[in-house]
Parts: sequence; structure tokens; C-alpha cells
Amino acid sequence: MRARALSVFLLAFCPLLFSQQAPPISTASLPSAASIEVPTGPGPGFAFTKIDNDLLDEANAVDALYEKKGLVMHDPALQAFLDTVGKRVIANRPIPENVTFRFRAVRDPMVNAFALPNGSIYVTTGLLALLENEAELAGVLGHETSHVFERHTYLENRSVRKKALTINILEIAASAAPMGSNLSAGVQLFGASVQLAAMIGSDIIVATIYGYSREMEHQADSDGLAAMTAASYDSSAMARSFELLDHDSTLEYEPIEGFYRDHPKLSDRREFATQFASTHKAGTFVTGDTKTYMDNVSAAICYEIGADLSSRRERTAVERSARLSAMFPDNPKYKILLADSYRSLGSKTKTPTDEERTRHGQSEHRKEYFRMTPDEEQKKLQENPEGQSALRDNEAMAEQLYKSVIQSNPNYAAAHSGLGFLFEQEGKYNEAAIEYQTYLQMESGTSMDHLRIQRRLATVQKLAGAPLHTP
Ligand SMILES: [Zn+2]
Repeated sequence: MRARALSVFLLAFCPLLFSQQAPPISTASLPSAASIEVPTGPGPGFAFTKIDNDLLDEANAVDALYEKKGLVMHDPALQAFLDTVGKRVIANRPIPENVTFRFRAVRDPMVNAFALPNGSIYVTTGLLALLENEAELAGVLGHETSHVFERHTYLENRSVRKKALTINILEIAASAAPMGSNLSAGVQLFGASVQLAAMIGSDIIVATIYGYSREMEHQADSDGLAAMTAASYDSSAMARSFELLDHDSTLEYEPIEGFYRDHPKLSDRREFATQFASTHKAGTFVTGDTKTYMDNVSAAICYEIGADLSSRRERTAVERSARLSAMFPDNPKYKILLADSYRSLGSKTKTPTDEERTRHGQSEHRKEYFRMTPDEEQKKLQENPEGQSALRDNEAMAEQLYKSVIQSNPNYAAAHSGLGFLFEQEGKYNEAAIEYQTYLQMESGTSMDHLRIQRRLATVQKLAGAPLHTP
């Protein structure tokens, strides 16, 4: 029921829904980037009224709330990257009245990007972690900035005041985060941006976080494609970024990221984007390589891995950190994230088993997922040989990764605390104590983590000593 309602308003969802690569093309007589005209919106023909000013105030309040609640990610490399790509996509279009373009990464695993009418463009960590290169990001920013240039939020606001909003805002907010009695608090991170906006924003602001009318979305697609092409980005990257959504994970049972797939207008928009790309490509176009992109957005990817680990999405965490680690094999931080992910996987296999993939298996496991706590789930998995062997493999993999970090970076403290957690999990309390002690020697201080490890040390020392007291 809820999924059905959700699909109705997601008709309008932002630029994320294309698919298919553009076909290979011959570029002999195609327009060059310089000759493409990028629409700049209604211009001075748009005059602010009281209701527009009220909406502007609201948008500013949403910005302030995101900032206050720590939703905005302040990573210098990521910020510089967003600013650079954003500026390039805006190019020399005249900035409309009451607009200051600001590009921000927002801590939210829900795959989304949205624009507020004051020019604040938000890209979620979920989307940043999914994209593969700069051109794909340029497509997203091109689409979102176009909503601002075209004054879409204001126009939508004026229009729905005449009609009555046909979507159920409470339903949107509720759907943003999955409900389930056994989900950890971490899951509440999903949809954080829309939930917070719903606290203070009017219905229209919340609704536009998901998208606009079909016509407006089409216009933003069209303007966005023109803007990215004029900025010399490969416009077929936009289609590719939406193809990525179609490949959304089959690793987890959580019904969070699936709702983009059955978008009814997907085929039209895909066709349009593909068509555009095939007729607007000439000269030298930039795509940007995946390694540079991942380096620039690594803060977002690491945030996502942390969110995965606190939301029972260990398989996704393994997949993401394995990708990072393979791309940057010398970076100890990524190797430790991978080790942490394997450790958290416990008795779960890295990818779904054949049995889990069957229709019956899928439904059974999904039910269990919501019925059991993580500990209960692990215990159940350990009852069968497959789970036991997965546990052995995953723990061995985690140990090997921690040790390889220690070998190449002997002073990397987090490798020792991680190894300590692993040994503690395996019941090797003496070895865990040694690792915790090493960590504490390296990280002298009074940080939260320091105190946490001190407590863990005391616990394992007690457990290690316990058998000695039994006769
Ligand atoms: Zn949009």
C-alpha cells in the first residue's frame, strides 16, 4: 500500500531515473559545446510576491536547520569538488534575483539530489557514493540548478495553492525511513533530509525534495543536459548515472533503495536523454576518471560505509569498502573500513546465497530480518555449516587486513583497536587485551574512543582472567 502511494509522487523524482548508455556516434556535424544555448529561466519576467517571499524564508530556514543538525558535510576536498563542478555547470548564466548558489553534500543514505529555491543544491551522500565520475555529477547539478533558474519551486508553489496539493506529505515523510521494530537507530539516517525539512518546511518544500511536475522535470532534464554539454561534459554521463540506479543492490533485504526502479516515466526520460546525447557531442568532452572522482567524494563514501554498518547493511559495506580499497590500495583507512566490514559481516556470506536468491528464500529472509535482532540473526546463521564457514572466512579476512595495515603502518592505532574488537568477538580475550593496550599507548588522550577502548580493555581483562578463578 505504502509502496504504491510512494510511486505516485516519485513520478516527478529528480534526475536520477534514466538508463542506457548513449549509442556510439559519429561527431562530424554535431553542434559544438560553445554553440549550445542554455536556457536561463524566466528572467526579470518573474516578479516576487508575498507568497514567494514566504517560500524563500522557508528555504533559508531549511538550510539553517540542516546546518544546525549536522546534516551538511564539511569536508574540504568534497566541498571544493562540488563547488568546482557546480560553478562550471552554472557557467556565465545570469544569477536570478534572491539566488545564491551553494552546493552541499548532505548526510543521507537515500539516493537523491534536490534544489531549494534560494539556490541551495543538496546532493545526498547516498547519491555521491553511487556515481562514478565527474560528468555524472555534472548532470545531476545541471538538472538541479535548472530547477532554480527556472523558478520551479516558486511556480509549483503558486500553482498548488490554486489546486490543492495532491500528494500526501505525511506519507512521504513516513516513507522516507523504513519502519521495523528491529532496525537499529542507524536506519533513521535514511531520508534524514526530507524528515528534517518536514519539521519546518511547508508541504511544497518537502514535496520538491522529491521532484516537480512532469513538465518541470522534463525542462530540468533538458536544461541540465544543455548546461552540462555547454560546460564540455559528456552528456551521455547523465543517462549512465540513472542506469546505476537500476543496478541497485540486491545485497540487502531492506526496502529502502528499491523505489526508483519502477518509475513509469523512466523510459520516456531515458529516451530523451539518450537522444540528446547522440546529437550533442562534439570536440573534446570531459567525463573524468572514477579514481579521481572517488578520491574527491571519499568522505561521502566513508560516511555511507559507516551508515551501512550501523544499519545492518554489512554486505553493502563490504562492497563499497572493497571498491575503495582496490582503488587506493595504499590507504590504510580504507583497508580498515574493509576489515571492519568483514568483521561485522560475521556469519553472513558476502553475497546472498543461492537459497536466499530464490523467491521463497527472499521472502523468508526478509521476514526474519524484521523479526530478529542482529544478534539473533547471527546466532541463527551459526546453526548451519554455511554460516559457520562464512564466519571463519570473514574473520580470517578481517584479521589479515588489520595485520597488513599494521605491517605497513605500525603506528596506525585504528588497526589495533579493530583487531582488538575482532579478537574479542572471537573470544580471544588475552590477544584482544594486548591490542587494546597497544591502541591506548598510541592514542593517549581523553577522546570518546579512548574511554571506550579503556572500558573494553577492562572487560576483556576480566573475561581473560575469569577461567583462572574457576577450580
Ligand atoms: Zn528534478
